[in-house]
Amino acid sequence: MNKEDKNKYRVEPKFNCEYQEDIVCPHCGDKDTDHEVDYDEECQEFSCGACEKKFDIVVHKEVSFSSMCLEGEHDYVKDDFHIDDMISCSRCGESHFTRFNKDNKE
Ligand SMILES: [Zn+2]
Ligand SMILES: [Zn+2]
Repeated sequence: MNKEDKNKYRVEPKFNCEYQEDIVCPHCGDKDTDHEVDYDEECQEFSCGACEKKFDIVVHKEVSFSSMCLEGEHDYVKDDFHIDDMISCSRCGESHFTRFNKDNKE
């Protein structure tokens, strides 16, 4: 199998445009590091700052959530992984030093 046969099944793009940290122009490969885009708009048109050609971009947003118990509802236990005066919630993992807690009556 020669090289040409292999490439029949897979197109090697000239520029690496997918899932990049910067917007890569598919025309000239210029990287736009300013990212002056509307992050609420998933698909939008973009003009290359170098060659001025237009292309479409997709904004990938990494969504993640953190949750924790309501204030005063944590189930604090002593955390063996930390030093003595550190307590952690057994449910949500929120942790703090008891020495910073002025209401600590221990
Ligand atoms: Zn360009
Ligand atoms: Zn909690």
